[in-house]
Amino acid sequence: MTTNRDLYDRARAVIPGGVNSPVRAFRSVGGVPYFVARAEGPRVWDVEGTEYLDMVQSYGAIIAGHAHPAIVEAVRTAAGDGTSYGAPTEREVLLAEEIAARVPSCEKVRMVSSGTEATMTALRLARGATSRSRVVKFAGNYHGHGDALLAESGSAVAHLDDAHGVPGSAGVPPTAVAETTVVPYNRVPTLDDDVACVIVEPVAANMGLVAPDPGFLEGLRVECDRVGALLIFDEVITGFRLHRGGAQARFGVRPDLTCFGKVIGGGLNVGAFGGRADVMDHLAPLGPVYQAGTLSGNPLATAAGLAALGLVDDAAYDALEATATRLADGLAKAFADAGLQARVPRVGPLVGIHLGGGEVHDYDGARTTDEATYGLLFHALLDRGVALAPGPYEVLFPGLAHDDAIVDEIVSRAADAAASVTARAPT
Ligand SMILES: *Cc1c(COP(=O)(O)O)cnc(C)c1O
Repeated sequence: MTTNRDLYDRARAVIPGGVNSPVRAFRSVGGVPYFVARAEGPRVWDVEGTEYLDMVQSYGAIIAGHAHPAIVEAVRTAAGDGTSYGAPTEREVLLAEEIAARVPSCEKVRMVSSGTEATMTALRLARGATSRSRVVKFAGNYHGHGDALLAESGSAVAHLDDAHGVPGSAGVPPTAVAETTVVPYNRVPTLDDDVACVIVEPVAANMGLVAPDPGFLEGLRVECDRVGALLIFDEVITGFRLHRGGAQARFGVRPDLTCFGKVIGGGLNVGAFGGRADVMDHLAPLGPVYQAGTLSGNPLATAAGLAALGLVDDAAYDALEATATRLADGLAKAFADAGLQARVPRVGPLVGIHLGGGEVHDYDGARTTDEATYGLLFHALLDRGVALAPGPYEVLFPGLAHDDAIVDEIVSRAADAAASVTARAPT
């Protein structure tokens, strides 16, 4: 039998760290990553046949459970007609229409292949459209791995910051971030008139889960308007998950540009950005801001995305929120009963775990989480067949496949796991 250990050893010989995205390597929790063989609904199985109730759900790319028949069938059918053409297709129009219908601020949309590509391009577009250079981002918000936005990014970058003693990644020249200003989350900065754009996760979900304080997003809108800067919502996680119309619909703030990814690809490689038509029309071929992609608007990806969006109607969002509430309340009680100091914040269908006592409003607060205890909890849960993301700054992604029985099972295993953690390391 192929084991996780075998594959991990072979992987590390030919892939740096054995993985194609750093957090998957378990560096912040220790141990050997499980290699997934297949998945269905709320479950994944590794190559050894071990079953996990999965709260990772591809970091939010999956909303209706793994291998949903409607998505699988859509991709299968699309593949039979060819996997990429280099010419426009009908489904690109349908997906752009669907996004525009759900998210009114997106008068025009362009498809790309990842969330990173969406944010990088939105940034260039904002700079091109305003003829300004400065970008303002918030500490602890993650916008993919583009040079200009990597500083103080939360997620797995949190540990890079520590390792190098400098914010962000090695290999990013100082000039690449010379026009990036990083400010604390949940405080409206006073902007200068050289600011092209402010980019924000409207609900921060890469430093654990941090809700926007009342007035924060509204305040950003007012401040951007005051100096003529564009407001960019990075809704790569929140888009089509928090609400039919994303965080902007939930909080009633209209950004100039919005970035998408994850859910709109139904598990395939998709990103998109959209916004005001007058801004979007600065893109080539209409305008001078260049962006292109061999696989942009790919037939398989648009088929999967359309199928995924077809599964999330208003009733689905109500169900997601009920599931997340059951999960968050259950986990909070399980941790409290075990004497584990933890908070389980929830915003709509998103749930976080913060291993500390205080409420969190920004990155400094987020980083007070007890990372070592997260590692213990992670492994205690994994041993009991529940997969959380292997990093203390990731969130949980309950989806449409997590029915009440699954949630209750996860909560009961979490109670047992938490008790084993406090028995070992009383907090
Ligand atoms: C995941 C993520 C990205 C990057 O998307 P990729 O598809 O991984 O490149 C950007 N912004 C946010 C908020 C994300 O969570």
